[in-house]
Amino acid sequence: MSWWLSRRAIDHVVLERGEIAHTWRTERWDSLRLLTPNWQSRLPGYQYSGDDPDGYRTLAEVIAFISGYAKVAAAPVRTHTTVTSVRGSDAGYLVHTDQGDWRCRAVVLASGACNIADVPAFAGCVPPAVMQITAQDYRNPDQLADGGVLVVGASSSGTQIAYEVHRSGRPVTLSVGEHIRAPRMYRGKDLEWWMDAAGVLDDRYDEIEDIARARRVPSLQLAGTPDRSTLDLNALTKIGVKLVGRVAGISAAGKAQFSGSLRNMCALSDLKMARLLDRIDDWARNAGLDDVVGPPYRLPPTRVEPAPPLDMNLASGEIKTIIWATGFRPDYSWLDVPVFDRKGRIRHDGGVVASPGMYLMGSQFMRRRKSALIDGAGDDARDLSGHLASYLDGRMAGENAAAKIESHWA
Ligand SMILES: Cc1cc2nc3c(=O)[nH]c(=O)nc-3n(C[C@H](O)[C@H](O)[C@H](O)COP(=O)(O)OP(=O)(O)OC[C@H]3O[C@@H](n4cnc5c(N)ncnc54)[C@H](O)[C@@H]3O)c2cc1C
Repeated sequence: MSWWLSRRAIDHVVLERGEIAHTWRTERWDSLRLLTPNWQSRLPGYQYSGDDPDGYRTLAEVIAFISGYAKVAAAPVRTHTTVTSVRGSDAGYLVHTDQGDWRCRAVVLASGACNIADVPAFAGCVPPAVMQITAQDYRNPDQLADGGVLVVGASSSGTQIAYEVHRSGRPVTLSVGEHIRAPRMYRGKDLEWWMDAAGVLDDRYDEIEDIARARRVPSLQLAGTPDRSTLDLNALTKIGVKLVGRVAGISAAGKAQFSGSLRNMCALSDLKMARLLDRIDDWARNAGLDDVVGPPYRLPPTRVEPAPPLDMNLASGEIKTIIWATGFRPDYSWLDVPVFDRKGRIRHDGGVVASPGMYLMGSQFMRRRKSALIDGAGDDARDLSGHLASYLDGRMAGENAAAKIESHWA
């Protein structure tokens, strides 16, 4: 957004509570690699130029990449400046920070979509002897006690963490709710390449049938590994990870109940994957690629044992740690502007927030399917900075007209 605001000659400042790339420095596990290939993190005026475009960035590489971009974009970043409140004012907005106040005509909310780990309330019933940690605080298996681990959530974070913890020698049970299975490679190319080329990632928010639902869909079950292998539930059960259904509740006595829908959840996920691959195959056929890439195929169905357990006594000592990989939500506790719906989500139309001169960035399926990916920021920022520029022009015209009338009557 800063790059686009500079291009449009709009005076601005970027306020950051920590260092540049703060979330990557402080809220990710050590072994994380991006699940998007190197070529795909395209930012305005900044592309991957190394010799491994199909590789997946390590955490250190992501931090270097974002920090490098801040320099290239010459973004006017004020680090160690935490925004504590944003309020409406006559001139636009009054922004309080722990380093002083700012007045501005427009505000872009780019504070991230994943500030708070979403942990169900019944986590409070977990017996105290069981350690609990979220995907946001998990760094590596050395943090965990020896013994069994229950990983709750089977999207990209949960499956990657389950794999790593299992390899550390701890028995892992993975609780599986809604998830989207995806092959890493398909017909000889990375799935992200297909989704990019076939236009799946460019699907627009105003052309999708049920955008509210699309915004709640969990991340693809993908991992970026050097061997480009698929990390789905079959890969995990093959190495000995045990699957159970979604955690439906935990009793006061510490008994976890698992939903009986595991088989259905997996069948649904297989179906969604097949639909995605159908769309890719249709596109490949129309694009004349059928003779260039390998033929279409489908992965074998997800294997689920005939009668997965429906409960587990968390007080028995079998489970020593629970890792909640149950998703994230944004934190707008500092935003004192009435822009929230009944569920506390920001009301916006493709990132144009329901308050004049306020914009959103980085939110799930905000303008496009890719909006919450690094690769989605550029297109969204171009569109929204255009809207912002028109808004400022309109305001300036209004203010000039008002000033003329005032001076006429003075
Ligand atoms: C586990 C995980 C893995 C991911 N993997 C990928 C991937 O492989 N590829 C991909 O493209 N995307 C991935 N993403 C999504 C990725 O995080 C986003 O694409 C990207 O970080 C969005 O950038 P952002 O600037 O909108 O948000 P963030 O990176 O979250 O940045 C928001 C910034 O705002 C700052 N901030 C927050 N509140 C305040 C405040 N009150 N005052 C001042 N500053 C504040 C934060 O410190 C932070 O630096 C992943 C996300 C997670 C959680």
